[in-house]
Amino acid sequence: MKRTRFGSRDRLSRDAAELQRLAIGLSDSGGKLEDSYWETQLAEIVTSLLKNGAEDEVNTALDRLFEANPRAHDELADMVESCAETGHLAFKAADYDIQLFAAPVLAWSRFSIPSCVLPSATVTALAAHLGAHVFGANARVALANYLFSPDQLPRSFCDTWQLTQALGQATTTGEHLAVDTQGMPDTNRFLSDVRYLVGCIAVPRGKALFRWNEKDGSKESALKEWIKQDSPNLEPLLTGCAWQPLLPDAYHAACRNADRLSRPYSLKASVAFLQTMLGLMPADIRAVVGPCYDRRMEEYRVGLGPKSADDTFHGIVWPLLGAEDEATDAASEIEAVLREAGVQDVLFLDHHFPMEFCDDCGAPLFPNAEAELVHAEMPEQAGANSQALH
Ligand SMILES: [Zn+2]
Repeated sequence: MKRTRFGSRDRLSRDAAELQRLAIGLSDSGGKLEDSYWETQLAEIVTSLLKNGAEDEVNTALDRLFEANPRAHDELADMVESCAETGHLAFKAADYDIQLFAAPVLAWSRFSIPSCVLPSATVTALAAHLGAHVFGANARVALANYLFSPDQLPRSFCDTWQLTQALGQATTTGEHLAVDTQGMPDTNRFLSDVRYLVGCIAVPRGKALFRWNEKDGSKESALKEWIKQDSPNLEPLLTGCAWQPLLPDAYHAACRNADRLSRPYSLKASVAFLQTMLGLMPADIRAVVGPCYDRRMEEYRVGLGPKSADDTFHGIVWPLLGAEDEATDAASEIEAVLREAGVQDVLFLDHHFPMEFCDDCGAPLFPNAEAELVHAEMPEQAGANSQALH
């Protein structure tokens, strides 16, 4: 699957060529011992490139392999993510592994979903709950003092590496990381979105990383305890929002899980939004679902409106993620989520819609029952603040 990239350069540098050679070797390897031989070399060069800010070399190698050797591409992508989110440090004469983690929270609000600096008492409480319920008994936990929106997470593998190192160091001092909010990007406003707590654990080499690595632990009970314990701390931050914490996990895995789960969450949020704002009951909603194509199929768009008229009040984008493509049965999942939310009238269109957006506000356009792409417009009485006035 193609991973995020941040630009590339034409000339293939020596480092990028070496990355390709090692990744291809790893993808062709016949056994665990040979895997380990390639992985050690690959990890060394990837880490050194991330340390030196050589994002372009990494992306050049990923781009070339994406075309030429998809299996080697995936090996390299996995290694780059792993090197960006892990590391080692020595502390009190012991060797520690460090692992960047994210604790995502799905949220929706008819107002706005905060992304903000966390009060220090909240950071301390959340870190203590993470340590007690999510991570292994010997893990030292440091947390960044910020509730991040997706726009505010590190933009590159090199930035992620830097954050891992900074938070890793913080685990040794027992302090939390004060995030520099200067130049922090603005948050795009959506009805439904994800917020992230980000931190790092340091674990003595060979000890359990997560609570579920221990004999009496499981992911289910860790999530249950985490929801129970973190909710009172998040409550005052997320006023006016409905929200649902997800299982904290290794950084990239947690982010991918949040991307996946935010799709059904935002669909249900939109149905609830129409009920809250307009009194439009799920049973009176019509959903129109259409696939949108750029060079390949990129996403479904779901327009929501009343059964009684041909209006589109609201819509959501259901992006295809990772290895998903046209053959993925996302349509059944969309239908199941809508039915679970009480929407019975679901119309699937077999068109190849273009990826069209509003010229004025950039909002995606949604399919209606006539198979046209239209601008979602809330009716007048819903209040002007949610209206697109053009
Ligand atoms: Zn618009």
